Amino acid sequence: MSEAIKLFVEDARAVSIEAAAKILNLKFKRSGVEHPQPCPHCGGTDTFAFNTGKEKWNCRAGGIGGNDAIGMVAHCEGLDVKSREGLLEACSIVLGRDIPDEGERESDEDRQARKKRLEERRLQNEADAAARAASQDEFREKERAKARGIIKTATGLRTSVDPRGRHYLEYRCNGFPDASWLRFGASVPYWHGQDERGAPLELFSGPAIVAPFIGPDLVEIGCHITWIDLRQPPKYRPLLYGLTKKGLACGLLDWAFSDAPPLAIDLADGLYEQLPAKKMRGSKKGGLIPIAGHPDCSRWVGGEGIENGVAFGVWEGFRADTFYFAAGDLGNLTGPAEPSSRFAHPMLKKPDAKGVLRALMVQGPKPKRDQGADDAMWVADHVDELVLLADGDSEPVMTAAAMARARARHARPGRLIPIVWPRAGYDFSRMAVETGE
Ligand SMILES: [Zn+2]
Repeated sequence: MSEAIKLFVEDARAVSIEAAAKILNLKFKRSGVEHPQPCPHCGGTDTFAFNTGKEKWNCRAGGIGGNDAIGMVAHCEGLDVKSREGLLEACSIVLGRDIPDEGERESDEDRQARKKRLEERRLQNEADAAARAASQDEFREKERAKARGIIKTATGLRTSVDPRGRHYLEYRCNGFPDASWLRFGASVPYWHGQDERGAPLELFSGPAIVAPFIGPDLVEIGCHITWIDLRQPPKYRPLLYGLTKKGLACGLLDWAFSDAPPLAIDLADGLYEQLPAKKMRGSKKGGLIPIAGHPDCSRWVGGEGIENGVAFGVWEGFRADTFYFAAGDLGNLTGPAEPSSRFAHPMLKKPDAKGVLRALMVQGPKPKRDQGADDAMWVADHVDELVLLADGDSEPVMTAAAMARARARHARPGRLIPIVWPRAGYDFSRMAVETGE
C-alpha cells in the first residue's frame, strides 16, 4: 500500500459511527444512544442497530458487527472489507472522497510530509480511541450506579406492604417465589424522549417489579424493570406510546400518560409507536436475574423472561435444590451465533430493501467461535443440570435454533441440559394461568 492510501485508510478509521450513520442516511431515534432499524443490506425489522455511546454496530440478520465506521459502511453497502477494493471503496464512502491515485509519482518532500501526517493521524486515532474507551467506561459505571439506586429504592416483593407486585405474578404465573431477589417499587419513573434542552422526560411513574442483574460474584451490574397495570389483562402491563420522528415531523404532539391511546391509523402510519413496558438499566450482558433459590445449587432452571421462570417454578413447587433465573433476553441466554451457521427459514419470506421477497435468514444453532465470557449469561461451573425454558409463543424455527445454540454454549462434560417446551403457541406463563383457574 502506498503512503497516500495508508493515510486515506487512517483518515477513514478516525470517522465515528455517528458521522458514518449520517452519511449512510441511517435512522436516528429521538433519544438514547442505541438506534435500531431494518438492515439496509439484509432487510428485516430492527435487525440492525448502531450505538453512538458504545461506538458499535451490529446486524442480527447478517450475524456481523463491529466497532468501526468502515466495517459498518461496508456491511450496509454490501462491500467486502477483506478485499482491497472493498476496503478502499468503504473508506471512500466514509470520507466522501475519491480513492487516491496510486500511479501518481511523488517527490521526496511530498513523501516525507505524507509520512509525517500519517504518523500524526495514527497517534491522534490512538488517543481518540483511548478517550472513547475511557468515556465508555465512565458511561457504563454511571449507568450501573443508577441501576443500583433503582434497586435500593425498591422494597422486597415478597414482603412489600403494597401487594401489587405479588398480584401481578399471581395473575401472570399463578404464584410468586418465597425469595428475596425480586423487588417492588410503587412509583418507578419511566423516562422517554427529551425536552428542548436535551434533558430526559418522565413519561409517567408507576408500580413496577424491579429485578437485579448479577454477575458471577453476585454483585449487581444492572436492573430489569417491568411496569405493571393490574387493570390491563392479559399481560397486566401499562399501554405506553411515544411520538415517532415521523409524527414529530407531521407536527403531532407528544403522547402523555393521561391521554387516550393514539388512533389505530396513526399507529399503522408510524406516527406513534407502542413503547415497551420493560426496561433495563446498567449492564445485562453476561449477567442474570435471580428469581428463587441460590446460585450455589447444582440444578438451575430458567429462560428468557422472569414470568416464564416464575411460572415454571410455581408449577414444580420451587424445588429446594434449584436456582431459578431469567436471562433477560434471548441473546443473553444463548450468546451470539457462528455466522456460517446462519440458515434460510424453510417457510418464511420477507421483502428486502428493494421489495424482493427473500427467505428469512435465521441465526444458526452453532455458538460463535472465540466468544467472550460475557457474551452470554454466566452459569456456575458446579451446575450439573441446566434446564432451559423455551418460549412457545415466539417463532418456532428461530427459537429452536437459539435453544440448540444455548445448549451448545453452556455445555460442559457431565452437565445435563434439557430444553423444555411449553404447549405450541403458549409460554409457561400462559399455561400456568390457564391450568391454575
Ligand atoms: Zn445486515
